[in-house]
Amino acid sequence: MQQPYGLDIWGDQNFIIRDGKAHINYKSSPALIDITTQIRSEGITGPVILRFPHLIAKQIDALYGHFTRAIEENHYQGRFKAVFPLKVNQYPEVVKSIVEAGREHGYGLEAGSKAELILAMANTPTGSPITVNGFKDVEMITMGFLAAQMGHNITLTIEGIGELESIIEVAENTSFRVPNIGIRIRLHSGGSGIWAKSGGMQAKFGLTSTELLEAFDLLKRHNLLDRFTMLHFHIGSQMDEIAPLKRALREAGNIYAELKRMGADALRAINIGGGLSVEYAQHPTQRVRNYSLKEFANDVVFLLGGIMRAKGVEHPNIVTESGRFITASHAVLVTPVLELFSHDYQERSLKLKEVNPPLIEELLELNNMLTSGNSIEYLHDALDHLESLLKLFELGYIDLQDRSNAETLVHLIIKRALYLKQSNQLPEIERLQERLQERYLVNSSFFQSMPDYWGLKQHFPVMPLDRLEQPAIRAASLWDITCDSDGEIGFDPKAPLYLHDVDLDVEEYFLGFFNVGAYQETLGMHHNLFSHPSEATVLIDDDGYRFTNLDEAEDILEILDNLEYDPATVLKQLETRIAESEFMTKEENRDTLSTLKHFLAQNGYLRTTK
Ligand SMILES: *Cc1c(COP(=O)(O)O)cnc(C)c1O
Repeated sequence: MQQPYGLDIWGDQNFIIRDGKAHINYKSSPALIDITTQIRSEGITGPVILRFPHLIAKQIDALYGHFTRAIEENHYQGRFKAVFPLKVNQYPEVVKSIVEAGREHGYGLEAGSKAELILAMANTPTGSPITVNGFKDVEMITMGFLAAQMGHNITLTIEGIGELESIIEVAENTSFRVPNIGIRIRLHSGGSGIWAKSGGMQAKFGLTSTELLEAFDLLKRHNLLDRFTMLHFHIGSQMDEIAPLKRALREAGNIYAELKRMGADALRAINIGGGLSVEYAQHPTQRVRNYSLKEFANDVVFLLGGIMRAKGVEHPNIVTESGRFITASHAVLVTPVLELFSHDYQERSLKLKEVNPPLIEELLELNNMLTSGNSIEYLHDALDHLESLLKLFELGYIDLQDRSNAETLVHLIIKRALYLKQSNQLPEIERLQERLQERYLVNSSFFQSMPDYWGLKQHFPVMPLDRLEQPAIRAASLWDITCDSDGEIGFDPKAPLYLHDVDLDVEEYFLGFFNVGAYQETLGMHHNLFSHPSEATVLIDDDGYRFTNLDEAEDILEILDNLEYDPATVLKQLETRIAESEFMTKEENRDTLSTLKHFLAQNGYLRTTK
């Protein structure tokens, strides 16, 4: 059955709608709106990231489950191993959940920088793999040796010959244990989708076949062939189809078999990188992914098995580094709606006169007589009258109050007509809705919380947390609170978003942005100095739920501190300005300062007045 807001497309059974509210489909299945209300009752306002560790566990279990099954069914001899690429989300609560949920599977971590490597060395359980990708200097390589010395099962993947030379240098100049060495290969075949730049001959990373032969020679000459254990490739993130992966697997599989034949005896694993995609679409026509995890696992195991059989080579272990797939679903960004821009067009703002211009009287009549049967006709009449009334205003025949009444009445008629026609979407109505979009101002920064929307126009599913049993009839565009016109998610007629008509003076309205748990958080920027939102980790059991972490967004002084302003100096500057002001008494000085200090201790998002 088609679910509201495409939940059946992007939701992966993680949420259900019950009594008009979005609930988490797990154990006691609490409602997102109730969790939100509780957080706000603890004094935290502004946007909040809700984290659900059970959804991270679900993805890790699915990954291991499908590969284990595929390996059994295909009588594959190698083992399945996986690491989480830290760049996808390094937040402590996320890493903690990953390590806890992954422990039983031997799930490891992947690092691409020194700071990430330290996180991996500190958090990876002994025996679980660590892989290190990206560019490395001698210091970073030495850190890898130290990790090996600490007992970690670590593989340094070289991205170029220079890195191998550095490894050789460190191996010869220290007595530390030499880590395992992986080689990233530059494949002929590239990926697909908007993140496909990681593969192909133009890719930023990896060795060409000539360089690979050179590396093999170097390893042999320096007696390090026994450390060369892994062949690595990564064709790009969010692969929307499986064909490029199959091509890459054939290419990499044959390179692996060749190296084995040449005497790479310690080589025992193919690391297929990441790229498992996440469905972000809300409309059937916008779907991108053309495969399931089951098909993905089957293809990898079947293809590699076939190549090795043909070449008479033992089956390699299979390592994956999918990250988006593991954490995207665990985080929901909840944002309050602060304002509807046509909010003023409420019945109560109508201030009719004793005697109104005839066209206004006619609008009143249309509004009163509107039915499902005549709504289109009346709508046309109303729009026509509005044109005439605006003309009359320009010519000075009606006053500002009349004009306001006309606009309000026409809006009321439009809203009622849309409501009456909701089950019968005529092209006419659709065109009108596009023209009469409602702008919802949400208390968050898209630059901070959905940078991929800003940078790549990546869509994230959005859904109100309640009222889901009520018809949503307003064509919606979403505006964030940055002073930047790019901070807008416009109404897209090809993938329309409809929201509810709410009166924010008397009720609250919250939107959830879903699948925001991968890449968005550390990629997010501090445009306009909006910081990482507040966050809550929600553990759900059979009886209810509890927060294991409730962390408010940075306060204003912390935000400035992070930008290398000295908070003490900022306070001193404010104090001096206040003291110098000629508009204040001594007492007012004190009050002003304490009011400012109170504000400085609050998070930098807008505070709804209720
Ligand atoms: C980014 C990256 C990944 C993770 O990709 P996902 O699309 O998040 O699965 C894996 N491996 C390497 C080398 C990467 O650079």
